[in-house]
Amino acid sequence: MKLCILDRDGTINIDSADYIKSPLEWRPLPGALEAIAKLNHAGWHVVVATNQSGLGRGLFDVAALNAMHAKMHSMLAAVGGRVDAIFYCPHTPDDRCRCRKPDPGLFEQISERFGIDLRGVPAVGDSPRDLIAGAALGCASHLVLTGKAAGLRGLPLPDIYPADTRVHDDLTAFADYLVAQP
Ligand SMILES: [Mg+2]
Ligand SMILES: [Zn+2]
Repeated sequence: MKLCILDRDGTINIDSADYIKSPLEWRPLPGALEAIAKLNHAGWHVVVATNQSGLGRGLFDVAALNAMHAKMHSMLAAVGGRVDAIFYCPHTPDDRCRCRKPDPGLFEQISERFGIDLRGVPAVGDSPRDLIAGAALGCASHLVLTGKAAGLRGLPLPDIYPADTRVHDDLTAFADYLVAQP
């Protein structure tokens, strides 16, 4: 199974320091949905792993999160794309859970759900914690220079990123890279 794991905020949709709290605030980054469709058409299954501490902070509820994801699914469907599943951490740092990235719990859940070893599975995100969480299970690290990483354009990668991290301008560039692999 060709599986690819994407962060959500700043990777697929425009991020906000005030959190994404409603479907209205959930807006895709330019080309991101088409990039997912491109991956799908090349045989890649795409799942999302996302920290949503806004739930634990009481900024929005699960119904609002589901509504955001319904919007994502329907906008994706309109361009011929699909994500198979969304794994989210609802906790705040104070909860000391295992699923809040950079801890690896979400990736463990994905491995269990699909019954596969995640070694070599591409994990894509815009912040170090996305890549650190995946790297714990052997995922290949892919940084997109959107969202939190937008300021890194043209700069050397800080040491906090996993050593083998590959850098792409955005999700479109990542998809182009992945589908070109033999
Ligand atoms: Mg992000
Ligand atoms: Zn959690």
